[in-house]
Amino acid sequence: MALTLVSTSRFGDHLTPPGHPESPDRAAILDGVAQRARDRGVAVIEPREATDAELERVHTPAHVRSIEATRGRATMLDADTFTSPDTADLAKLAAGAGIVAVDVILSAQQSMAAGEVASAFALVRPPGHHAESARAMGFCFYSNVAVAAAHARAHGLARVAIVDIDVHHGNGTQEIFYPDPGVLFVSTHQYPFYPGTGAAREIGAGPGEGFTANLAMEGGSTDGDYQRVIDGAVLPMLQQFDPELILVSAGFDAHEDDPLGQMRMTTAGYAWTAGRLVAAARHAGCPLALVTEGGYALGALSASLDAVCGVLEGGTPVEGEMRPPTGRGDRALTALRTAQGARWAGL
Ligand SMILES: [Zn+2]
Repeated sequence: MALTLVSTSRFGDHLTPPGHPESPDRAAILDGVAQRARDRGVAVIEPREATDAELERVHTPAHVRSIEATRGRATMLDADTFTSPDTADLAKLAAGAGIVAVDVILSAQQSMAAGEVASAFALVRPPGHHAESARAMGFCFYSNVAVAAAHARAHGLARVAIVDIDVHHGNGTQEIFYPDPGVLFVSTHQYPFYPGTGAAREIGAGPGEGFTANLAMEGGSTDGDYQRVIDGAVLPMLQQFDPELILVSAGFDAHEDDPLGQMRMTTAGYAWTAGRLVAAARHAGCPLALVTEGGYALGALSASLDAVCGVLEGGTPVEGEMRPPTGRGDRALTALRTAQGARWAGL
């Protein structure tokens, strides 16, 4: 196991209005996680800004120009998406962090022994998965994980999987790759919930049909429910897709302490999930890169990130009792099976 973190203290300079959940305080949490990892001997590297060309692999030039036009100003792009003077630069830096993570692990994986997994975790804000090809929304300006996936595709990878575990549906990432069979997008999220998308029946379009998979879970879902959908759908799909890279939209707002979501995931549940993603990467013989999304209970965010980093470093699982399943996971699984038909073996 080899973990690299991509981190910079600059993400605290993206300012949001007082009381906004996606606050600069989250950057201090990310910095603390990076510092503790550094103290354990983990490599921590700085991101770079994504170039316009790299952003325009997934966003329209007009969208990139519209974010650029906010430089130096505080603006409101939708009811909960705000810029501050440095946001245009920091949004590019967050997208670039995912690119740096991909570059690091693709190169590291080549020197790994069989069964070993190179991993990287980009600790970023602003988050990205709500940003669509032509629209900023839901605290997001560029889809950081989509930019990272497109970067990997541009460097010759035929199959990239994106697993989105944020409590909200990653509508932006889904929209960007909806017709694309080269990117498998699998999301676990609270449904119905913001942003309104993410029903099981949304399965991709044209050649991409079947390559979008939504595990639409009711509020109140527990660790045990997540275990059911991850082992019952996410892992079998990854196994069959045989990705050359697994990317993760790592949101921690499904945590039971989170003020926005109604899920009941624990820190131990997040560590378990990370372990399963490592197992999927090991099975595929591919590297694993995570990019932060949401997570608004600062203590839970910090503890969950530490726990996930520990798993990626190859450490022992986190102690802690996980909550048993409630049936919500099984219902999401049934809806997914119905929507996907016989496309995926083992569902
Ligand atoms: Zn979220």
